[in-house]
Amino acid sequence: MRWRHWYEAARLAGCPPAAARPAMMELLTEWVGPCPHCGQSNSFEIDRTAGRRQAWIEDCWVCCRPIQVAVGFDAHGGLDVVLAPAQ
Ligand SMILES: [Zn+2]
Repeated sequence: MRWRHWYEAARLAGCPPAAARPAMMELLTEWVGPCPHCGQSNSFEIDRTAGRRQAWIEDCWVCCRPIQVAVGFDAHGGLDVVLAPAQ
């Protein structure tokens, strides 16, 4: 992942990541995962500035059923995304 590469390079250089990473990649990261209802791939935009723990509900673009999206970041900025059926 390009963003991860930038982050690691900045970390190794001793720079604060916020100052080193490109502005265009600062706000949103695209993450693709399977819908828990129909299994089709969905693309989610994850806002890295919105906190290390995030959760929201988004409708599947294929079957339109609601998906509970839970996002966490590890200490290195890696993404941990969990998709579950929402009612
Ligand atoms: Zn679906």
